[in-house]
Amino acid sequence: MTPLSELAQQQHYPHGALYVVATPIGNSADITLRALHVLGLVDRIAAEDTRNTGQLLARYGISKPLVAVHQHNERAAGLRIVEHLQAGERVAYVSDAGTPGISDPGAKLVDAVREAGLPVVPLPGASALATALSVAGDWVATFSFLGFLPTKAKQRATQLQQFAAHPHAMVFYEAPHRIVETVGALAGAFGGARRVLIARELTKLHETLHGCTLAEGPAWLAEDPNRQRGEFVLVVQGAAPQAAGEHDHDKLLGILLDELPVSSAAKVAAAITGASRNALYSRALELKKD
Ligand code: SAM
Repeated sequence: MTPLSELAQQQHYPHGALYVVATPIGNSADITLRALHVLGLVDRIAAEDTRNTGQLLARYGISKPLVAVHQHNERAAGLRIVEHLQAGERVAYVSDAGTPGISDPGAKLVDAVREAGLPVVPLPGASALATALSVAGDWVATFSFLGFLPTKAKQRATQLQQFAAHPHAMVFYEAPHRIVETVGALAGAFGGARRVLIARELTKLHETLHGCTLAEGPAWLAEDPNRQRGEFVLVVQGAAPQAAGEHDHDKLLGILLDELPVSSAAKVAAAITGASRNALYSRALELKKD
């Protein structure tokens, strides 16, 4: 049987290509053999943070010229990377952790390279999104990835209202200083009964996976300040399938929407029918779009 390290080398890695390489999300052993091979092969490594990446590469014994490509310079730095590629170099792009382009820079660089007619090669690996989903359990059949919610309470509430009737599980990223507030906001918008998986510090020493209802989440987090430290993924249950007859509200909403803004139409419809104002608001938004 061919040794795995040889398999990583067998593929052809053309010159003039951008290699988008996933790196670990915590445990530096979670790097693929292909990633190590390609990072060792390329002429240059573009990185979101050259200091972080320099330290990571040192762990693998790799030393390469590093160039900073982050959210503030991605387009301009991307054009310089294109010049390196046009000169025949192989260049890798890595973000700070996990898979580039997933709540991380990378997409604009990929666009610039493709627009120049040059190849982009993905090297898959760790992502906090897939890692959390892999242990969510059977209640997550389909999902939508929503990344970070807006940090301002009003904008966050507006966005969450729009997803109150979303039938698929939703995956969010969140920072430690906002985690309690965000779980509370999710409970407020979606109701406290929905399931949530709180996935903290995945692949790291203090990895914690806790499943509970949205209503229970803030209290569980508050019980021990350590539970609020580190990095978080939240997987939240989608809305229950609509009961037959719920769409009967469409006619009423339709009439109200002819006269009123969405929020007022939802408020009046909720008062008349006794149905959830959040659900009616989301439905009214959909009807308005149609
Ligand atoms: N590109 C990365 C990926 O593929 O997952 C995500 C980068 S994003 C800037 C960073 C966020 O991802 C963190 O704030 C956290 O929400 C989530 N995250 C990253 N590493 C994590 C980990 N080890 N455990 C839990 N969440 C993590």
